[in-house]
Amino acid sequence: MSGTAWKKLSDEDIKRMSELLKSGATMLADTCPVCGSPLFRLRDGSVICPHCQKKVVYLKEGENEDRALEPYVLEEVRSSLFSLLRKLAPVMASADPDEALPLVQLANSLLEALKSLSELQRRIAEGRRGELAGFRRPRVGRARGVELRPPR
Ligand SMILES: [Zn+2]
Repeated sequence: MSGTAWKKLSDEDIKRMSELLKSGATMLADTCPVCGSPLFRLRDGSVICPHCQKKVVYLKEGENEDRALEPYVLEEVRSSLFSLLRKLAPVMASADPDEALPLVQLANSLLEALKSLSELQRRIAEGRRGELAGFRRPRVGRARGVELRPPR
C-alpha cells in the first residue's frame, strides 16, 4: 500500500473502522488490493475492506479463484432469487385465478432453483468442513489426550 492511500480514508471510513473494532473485529497487517485500506477480520472469520465495504477472499497457493469465490457468488444468487420471489408474491396475490398459472410456474421455478442452490451450498460447506477437519487433526493430538488419562 502506498502512503497516500491512508490519507484517502474519509471520516466515514474511520468511523466504520472504529465500529468494526468495537464489534470485536481485528485489524490485519494486509491491505485491500483495490484501495489500500487496512483489512479487518470479523468474528465470523471473514475479512472485509471497510472502505470498499466488500469481503476480501484470500486465495491459497494454487487455489482457483472461481472456487474461492464460489460461496460468495452462490450467496448473491440466493439473494437475487429471494428478491424475485418477494416481488412475485404480491403480484400473485392480486392476480385473477385464470391469469395465475404462469406466475405460479415462475414461483415454482424460483423455489426449485433455491432448493438446488441450498443443496449445492450444503455440499460445498460440508466439503470445506472436511478439508478443515483434515487440516486440524494433526494439531489436536487426540492420541496424546488418551495417554494422559489416569491408568485404571
Ligand atoms: Zn478496499
